[in-house]
Amino acid sequence: MSLNNVLDINDENFRLSNFSERYESNVRTYSRDFPAVFHRAKGSVLYSDTNKPYLDFFSGAGALNYGHNNPVLKEALINYISKDGISHGLDLFTSAKERFINSFVQYILCPRNLDYKLQFTGPTGTNAVEAAVKIARKYTGRKNVISFTNAFHGMSLGSLSLTANPKKRKGAGVALHDSIFMPYDGYLGPDIDTSLVLKAMLQDGGGLDKPAAIIVETIQGEGGVNTASRSWLRKIYQIAKELDILFIVDDIQAGCGRSGTFFSFEEYQIKPDIVVLSKSLSGYGLPMSLLLLSPEIDIWEPGEHNGTFRGNNHAFITAETAISNFWATKMFSEDLSNKIGFFDNVLDELQREHPEIGLRGRGLFRGISFNEENIAGKVSAEAFNHGLIVETSGVSGHILKLLPALTISQRELQDGISIISDVLKKRGK
Ligand SMILES: *Cc1c(COP(=O)(O)O)cnc(C)c1O
Repeated sequence: MSLNNVLDINDENFRLSNFSERYESNVRTYSRDFPAVFHRAKGSVLYSDTNKPYLDFFSGAGALNYGHNNPVLKEALINYISKDGISHGLDLFTSAKERFINSFVQYILCPRNLDYKLQFTGPTGTNAVEAAVKIARKYTGRKNVISFTNAFHGMSLGSLSLTANPKKRKGAGVALHDSIFMPYDGYLGPDIDTSLVLKAMLQDGGGLDKPAAIIVETIQGEGGVNTASRSWLRKIYQIAKELDILFIVDDIQAGCGRSGTFFSFEEYQIKPDIVVLSKSLSGYGLPMSLLLLSPEIDIWEPGEHNGTFRGNNHAFITAETAISNFWATKMFSEDLSNKIGFFDNVLDELQREHPEIGLRGRGLFRGISFNEENIAGKVSAEAFNHGLIVETSGVSGHILKLLPALTISQRELQDGISIISDVLKKRGK
């Protein structure tokens, strides 16, 4: 790359996205769907470099449940940094980690009667999934892991082996081993209980080697906002318990309040052996992942799953602040459940105006389906032109996925849906 190719900011044809468009790898994706240069963000609004506001129904794919630059989290972080708090600490004991663990146990685990050991993995979701299946294999001495149709568990090889999307799997370039896919709830239509398929395949004569674990998303984020019913999840859980198979909930996207409760499964009377959290755990968009392990499963040798960036201390600070401010009392949850009720009404109204659409998901984790395959992408693109960021999901991008921040106002929820409604009206003409 010669210096002559480097762009001149003073050139009158210069646009701010030139550097990214010219030099960033072709692998980039969201910037193709939302082609603005973003400069700052507050709450549920992002601003471009030209100061154009965009209402955010995307929330960093679910990593910004408390909105952009949440003032409570920001203040705690600035305060910590200004006092030269530890920023990098491998897995050393730090006061930031002590505070996080204390609040997580006190305000999240104890009130829900959950007893888990905490493992801080590398900061991405996929790293935590890798750790989850690694310990499940070590603990059971078995190889196979059962995953479900349309599942998404991450892009590194182990997680990718559990991810259904054929295009993403092909990118591996090697065989993806030791995973078995079973039909998710609803995959064979509304009348077929797919837990019976799982049960049949695991019976003697079903031919499957007994798996180490079953890993499931209660709401499939990347797979099209497919939602498991309570009864289906409970049946899958029962099957795992009866056969001594570990039950892993990947709550990376559905957790941290997105479904309406802190854990997406907490009202379902199941107790997963392993829970995976990431995306919104830090609350501030800072990378952080956490594995919750039933104590007896924690048979790691020291250092057996290592990593330089385990336990991001800045993320401990914002995560702890989010927990002690938003989850320690009932206020935030009650406000959230009112907001969800309001959003349900707004969405029902949208569906009355546009009977051709379908609604899916629960909590503030919602999806809109259309009667034709390629509409969602067009609606997303049009909505972006009208100042709304909303992404698509599903194996062919056929679902519009709505992930507003949990802190969004009713007014903004209404505004976002009005933009979608206008786009749909224009398309109908
Ligand atoms: C995003 C996501 C992952 C992967 O997390 P990364 O941080 O992108 O590696 C895994 N599982 C689910 C359910 C996710 O939504």
